[in-house]
Amino acid sequence: MQVHKYDVVIVGAGGAGMRAAIESGQRARTAVLTKLYPTRSHTGAAQGGMCAALANVEEDNWEWHTFDTVKGGDYLVDQDAAEVMAKEAIDAVLDLEKMGLPFNRTPEGRIDQRRFGGHTRDHGKAPVRRACYAADRTGHMILQTLYQNCVKHNVEFYNEYYVLDLLVVEEDATRADGTPFKQKRVAGVVSYDLASGELHVFQAKSVIFATGGAGKVFKTTSNAHTLTGDGMGIAFRRGIPLEDMEFIQFHPTGLAGLGILLSEAARGEGAILRNSEGERFMERYAPTIKDLAPRDIVARSMANEVREGRGAGPNKDYVLLDLTHLEPAHIDAKLPDITEFARTYLGVEPYTEPVPVFPTAHYIMGGVPTNIKGEVLQDNDTIIPGLYAAGEVACVSVHGSNRLGTNSLLDINVFGKRSGINAAEYAKTAEYVEIPEDPAAETVALLDAVRTASGTERIAAIRSDLQETMDANMQVFRTADSIAQALSDIATLRERYRNISIQDKGKRFNLDLLEAVELGFLLDLAEAMTVAALHRKESRGGHYREDFPDRDDANWMKHTMLYKDDAAETEGIKGLRFGTKPVIFTRYEPMERKY
Ligand SMILES: Cc1cc2nc3c(=O)[nH]c(=O)nc-3n(C[C@H](O)[C@H](O)[C@H](O)COP(=O)(O)OP(=O)(O)OC[C@H]3O[C@@H](n4cnc5c(N)ncnc54)[C@H](O)[C@@H]3O)c2cc1C
Repeated sequence: MQVHKYDVVIVGAGGAGMRAAIESGQRARTAVLTKLYPTRSHTGAAQGGMCAALANVEEDNWEWHTFDTVKGGDYLVDQDAAEVMAKEAIDAVLDLEKMGLPFNRTPEGRIDQRRFGGHTRDHGKAPVRRACYAADRTGHMILQTLYQNCVKHNVEFYNEYYVLDLLVVEEDATRADGTPFKQKRVAGVVSYDLASGELHVFQAKSVIFATGGAGKVFKTTSNAHTLTGDGMGIAFRRGIPLEDMEFIQFHPTGLAGLGILLSEAARGEGAILRNSEGERFMERYAPTIKDLAPRDIVARSMANEVREGRGAGPNKDYVLLDLTHLEPAHIDAKLPDITEFARTYLGVEPYTEPVPVFPTAHYIMGGVPTNIKGEVLQDNDTIIPGLYAAGEVACVSVHGSNRLGTNSLLDINVFGKRSGINAAEYAKTAEYVEIPEDPAAETVALLDAVRTASGTERIAAIRSDLQETMDANMQVFRTADSIAQALSDIATLRERYRNISIQDKGKRFNLDLLEAVELGFLLDLAEAMTVAALHRKESRGGHYREDFPDRDDANWMKHTMLYKDDAAETEGIKGLRFGTKPVIFTRYEPMERKY
């Protein structure tokens, strides 16, 4: 086992991790550990755009952007964080431009902007052009640009290093009011080198988690195979709470039956959703901004059309995205990749035929709780010195209960940058926390248990059954019964997980082994999402309970905090405890959410 020492260790080389690395790398000795080669991170799959109130093509300002983010998130957004994000958005885009990102331009040479769901002029009056973009490969351009700049700043990458544990120690401490508590401190991480099968311990003054989302708990998802929520899972196992895990975003336009994403940019450029009768049904659900309503509303409206028998296709189980009124040249210039997806995967020609679409699991609004500096919280009042999180793994919370399109590429840039600066500044004066004796003991035990297991269950089968139950029961519409079904299935799957075996027992490139570990994270996170969904007895943003169809501000205007606690039991699950965290209000009182 090798031990390395850095000031700052960043886990994850997606947009959030690399934006942090650019800042940290210029201030402190920084290493980035990533299970994927950096430019294969999911940020590279992002299509539609990154928003900022640049007002390049029409009137706009950061205050309208803040309001849209708060209302889009159904008022569960921490408004201080949303304000920071909307204000710093402008510099975030200009930073990328200076680093060399080739944004689409207006004829006058300014960065062009287009429409996206929920982004409006003057507090909801009409859609506004706020999303900056590079055709429909904005994330690809961001990831390449950030990687080039990391190389320029000599950031050290450890590629295909899987982080499997976070080293935290607990110290006796006292709160301001005199009560004693255990202060967590971060000492480093334990990682597994895929190529050699060797473990490497990294000691660091600061650690930034930027490990992305967990969409792979679902079968129908826009997320890549690798989005298994490792960072959330590791943090949770180490006693760090998870915030707002019940809120999962279903993107309206996945290719039907496949889940592959067709960006909202299509609707931003004028595409229209229609039911089997050819009706533009969003006019009924969101009369003002129609197809450009926030994603939770559009996804539910689509599912409702199908339920009420107005779905298209032989099984009436999808709706249609109509681009046929757009000029082919316009489609080719603005939406080249996603229209090609429709041709390749569905054999549909978007110039002349509408594209079958249905909601697909897309984004996890919840995650590891942080404040606006990127510092991770161990509880509402206490940060963990030296530990930061940014991007989809984190919950800061700028997205509340429903994220607006193009706000994630923004989030990773704004809070990636903040975390990178703050982690490096912290490392300048902090001392190393001593790593525990035998730091990799638990990781060794975890890996040995999988390697030597001789059960009869296959990893792929358990994963697929997990995804089936989540697709069936934790969807756009939920009830106490459906959620309870998912929970009981997850309990059965956990039992089966104790009886696995893997075929590859070798050391080098053992993906069998790592997929087994990743499945462990998926099971933990699916349980967290499901138990939180059962707990929240109201409907808000992405979480819709048919048995509690209204938003209930009197009882539920609060964040859910889920703690691992061996002594507790909640919603029938041993070892879990719920807490709450107040929502931060600055200027907007909750209103009825109409579009
Ligand atoms: C198809 C698609 C299209 C999208 N389009 C848009 C869009 O147009 N606009 C928008 O705003 N948002 C969009 N999103 C959402 C947005 O792209 C993501 O939320 C965002 O890019 C996440 O960035 P991230 O840096 O947090 O994580 P990722 O980019 O997912 O990076 C995660 C990193 O963590 C590493 N990692 C994970 N686990 C480990 C581990 N155990 N050890 C070591 N490393 C690890 C991975 O190697 C990877 O480098 C889209 C998402 C998808 C799936």
